[in-house]
Order: sequence, then structure tokens, then C-alpha cells
Amino acid sequence: MIDKRVVWITGASSGIGEALAITYSAAGWFVVLSARSTAKLEVVKNRLKDPGASLVMPLDVTLPLAAEEVAGQISASLGRLDLLINSAGMSQRSMIINTDLEAYRKLIDVNYLGSVYVTKAALGLLIANRGTVAVMSSIAGKIGAPKRSGYAASKHALHGFFDCLRAELSGSGVGVSILCPGYVNTDIDLHALGHDGKPTGKEDRDNRNGMSPEVLADKIYTAIAKRKQEAYFGGAEVLAVYLKRYMPRLLSRLLAARS
Ligand code: NDP
Repeated sequence: MIDKRVVWITGASSGIGEALAITYSAAGWFVVLSARSTAKLEVVKNRLKDPGASLVMPLDVTLPLAAEEVAGQISASLGRLDLLINSAGMSQRSMIINTDLEAYRKLIDVNYLGSVYVTKAALGLLIANRGTVAVMSSIAGKIGAPKRSGYAASKHALHGFFDCLRAELSGSGVGVSILCPGYVNTDIDLHALGHDGKPTGKEDRDNRNGMSPEVLADKIYTAIAKRKQEAYFGGAEVLAVYLKRYMPRLLSRLLAARS
């Protein structure tokens, strides 16, 4: 078993996952990098403080057997897993009335089931090591906004699953953190699915004006270290979570103005 703490990050080839990989490497962790693009993961590996303490393990999170294979390789070659961060995901920009059903299937497959598959594959290792599992939800996991129906549904589903997981694992020493960022300046807007289930390739001003992934990664590092059960990150958009709870009609009016 290696001495360093081991973090496995999905969605590590870009955006928030990439920034998290850099943050954890700088903090002395061994980093396992997963996403579909091996070439992009190799670029990220070379940006880490200690590329020697990292492994590129390509993975499509929609394939449960592939997730089990990566977990098996982590077990065989490193002998431990201290933290899993499920960051792989994609967004959406389309109204319900003209969104193809295929777009809904993709969003659930990647954002919800992908996190379930990888978490199930890693669970034995995390329990053995009293580790932590974190999942990237969103403010859209707490509220529903126009043009995000499939995205918000997939993120809301994560709260149901991971709250149950936390309850089932109480007393096991395993932490479960649900992370809810607001707008972050990554390429998520370019990769977001349009009405036809294909990436729109369009920039979104809210994302471009959002928090930097590097700043977010530092905040997430602290939240996970504190084993926060649920954490919100961002600017004014975070207020939507509290408006929904205490002033739901006001939130509905504000959201209607955005459709
Ligand atoms: P990016 O588009 O920059 O990164 C998405 C990552 O997910 C990429 O590494 C991509 O790699 C990976 N990915 C996509 N599909 C798959 C798949 N099937 N299997 C494995 N990996 C996959 O977006 P962000 O970094 O911004 O998003 C990361 C997470 O943060 C997502 O879950 C997103 O919903 C969440 N989030 C983002 C916010 C934002 O404003 N940016 C706000 C709130 C939450 P590859 O294509 O190589 O597979």
C-alpha cells in the first residue's frame, strides 16, 4: 500500500475536475485521473505538481463494468482509496417543449447513473479505508430553472441517492459530501446539450462571469476536509437555495424572468 492519500477524480480532463486534480496534487495526494479523453488527461497529468504521483485511468462513467475495472486497478496498484470525487457531468440549454427524449437519457446516464456506478465500484475500498465520497451536484440540484429540466433532474436525483448512502454508512467512518456550485467559468457551456441532445458549442455569459475553477477547487478541498454533508459555492445565485425554502413565490417570479 502506498503512503500518500489517494483521490480518484472523474471528469478530471477539464474544468472543475482538472482544477481539483491540481489542488490535491499540490497538497501531496496521489491523484487518479479519469475521463473519456486519454489525451486530455495526459495534459492534466503534466500540469500536476507531482505527475509521478498520479495515474491516468480513462473511463466512460456510463459503463459500470469499466468503473469496476478502474476500481480494481486502484486496489491492485495502490492498495487504498481515501477519496472519490464524482465530477464528470454535462449541462443542458433547451426548453422542455422541444427537447428530444435522447437528451434526457444522456443527462441521467452521465450525471446521475455515472456517479452511482463509480461510487458503487469504489465503495468497498472507501469503507475499508474509512474514506470520503464526494459528488458534484449544483445549485441546479436544489432549484429548477428554465432550460435546465434534464440537468436539474439529474442533479436532484444525486441528492436522493447520496443522502441515502450517508444514512446507510453512518457509523462506518465514511464521509459523504454533496457539492453544489453556482456558476463556474469552465467549458461546461460549450459542452451543454441542446434540444437535439448534441453539444450547443455556445458560450454562456453566466458561466463566463462565474467563479474560477481554481478558486472553487480550494473551497471544495476545505469543505471535503471538514466532511461537510452539503456545501454551496458561488455568488448571488446561491441565494436561490434559501429563497426556494423561505420565499418560493419570489424565486418563481425571478426564474420566470429568465426563460
Ligand atoms: P467541463 O465540461 O469542463 O468538464 C466535464 C468533465 O466531465 C470533463 O472532464 C469530461 O471529460 C467529463 N465527462 C463528460 N462525460 C463523461 C463521461 N461519459 N465519462 C467520463 N467523463 C465524462 O465542466 P465542469 O468542469 O464545469 O463540470 C464538472 C462538474 O461540475 C459537472 O458535474 C457539472 O455538472 C458540475 N457543475 C458545474 C458548474 C459550472 O458552472 N461549470 C456549476 C455546478 C456544477 P471527457 O469529455 O474527456 O470525458
